[in-house]
Amino acid sequence: MLIVALLSALLLVALMGCLYFYTLNKRISKACNVHEHQTAKLSIENKGLHSEIEGLHSFINRLQNELTHSNSLLTQEIREQVKTQEELIASTRRADEADLLKSNFLANMSHEIRTPMNGILGFAQLLREEDIDDEKRDRYIDIIYHNGTMLVNLIDDIMDISKIEAGQLAINKANCNLDDLMFELYTFFNEVKFKQEKEHISIRLVDFNEDEVNIVQTDGHRLRQIMSNLLSNALKFTEKGTVEFGYQNNLDQNQIKFYVRDSGIGIPKDKRDIIFDQFRQVHEGSTRKYGGTGIGLFISKHIVGLLGGSIWVESEINVGSTFYFTIPYQHKGLLANNVTLYQSSSKKYDWSNKVILVAEDVELNYKLISSALIGTNASIMWARNGEEAVEMCEKNPSINLVLMDIQMPKMDGYDATKAIKRSKPSMPIIAQTAYAMPNDNIKCMEVGCSDYIAKPLNTNILLEKIEKHML
Ligand code: ADP
Repeated sequence: MLIVALLSALLLVALMGCLYFYTLNKRISKACNVHEHQTAKLSIENKGLHSEIEGLHSFINRLQNELTHSNSLLTQEIREQVKTQEELIASTRRADEADLLKSNFLANMSHEIRTPMNGILGFAQLLREEDIDDEKRDRYIDIIYHNGTMLVNLIDDIMDISKIEAGQLAINKANCNLDDLMFELYTFFNEVKFKQEKEHISIRLVDFNEDEVNIVQTDGHRLRQIMSNLLSNALKFTEKGTVEFGYQNNLDQNQIKFYVRDSGIGIPKDKRDIIFDQFRQVHEGSTRKYGGTGIGLFISKHIVGLLGGSIWVESEINVGSTFYFTIPYQHKGLLANNVTLYQSSSKKYDWSNKVILVAEDVELNYKLISSALIGTNASIMWARNGEEAVEMCEKNPSINLVLMDIQMPKMDGYDATKAIKRSKPSMPIIAQTAYAMPNDNIKCMEVGCSDYIAKPLNTNILLEKIEKHML
């Protein structure tokens, strides 16, 4: 009984255990199911979150890209604005500088015109005095002539500047004897130094080529203009010592190198380039010690460029400066109109039985020419315009030569020359040109003139040219 009871109890316990395990298992499996369900739910939620995060990521990336892009645009815009602002500041500064330079230039120009004008007017007034001796008269005339020449040079420079601005500065190449040119400059500047009370400065001509090839094809007048400018600067900025000049044939490089060296004040390093710009000087403003207008080197640089060379300067403060320039070497060509360079001479001419017709509308100019011809005993006739000149040539077979002004009323010098040449082809006609327009001289030769002479007339050159062509 006990055993049965025990067994029943055991069975009961076992049953209860089974029931318990069964219930537990069910719970567990239920819990597992719930877990699985939740895991699945979570995974779905996770996936959603993931894609949302990815979306967010790409949004942030896009945003970042856009930000970077607009940032670089902004930076570029800021840079451009800064650049524009800098350019504006620079151009305002340049405009201010140009304004100042122009005002300085006008002030300098006024000074450069008034100084010789004062000399001319003052000494002309003194010439009127009755008890003036010959020596004084010669000296006054010399001063008036010197000041007049300075004015003409200034006018030439102004004309050149406007021709450069209009792109019309012309180069006329011909055969040019460089040694003659150097000697002419040497003689001329040795006279100039006395006029400027700088006789203690020695002017030396070295390195010229006497026996070597010294006739080249170039524009001799323009070459002389550059050398004259460099030499007058050298003399102006030198108080003691020497001014030396010359040229070397660098035939291996196919070029000729000219130089002008002085022992003057020198040029500071930071000014060595800008002095070749228009209106620029080392010392600018009203306190400057030396005169000048600051256009000579600008013109020289331009001409050197047109001739096919370059110009530069080497300098040391208080030791001196050397200006160099080159031109290409072109051997003399078969050009008819060689550039002849003249030295002052006191040659006497006797044209007692010759008749010269002067075609000139301005009375003062006619008087100047007739005074220049007085010592030659030539008979002089005066035509006041081109028409009169043609008529007088037809009516007077005794005329041996015509001096023809170009700008005249009624009929200009070109047409008058053509008309005279039609009826008298062998009549020598020398044109007087003011070089007002580029290539005036070439045009004169084309219409039939035998030669031309630049105004204001140099008496020696005038007489030599008349002698050369007179019938
Ligand atoms: P300008 O002599 O009429 O002023 P330039 O154009 O010929 O004009 O010269 C410009 C400037 O260059 C001069 O004003 C001067 O300051 C400087 N310069 C030219 N040549 C010399 C020189 N040989 N020595 C010192 N300074 C010079």
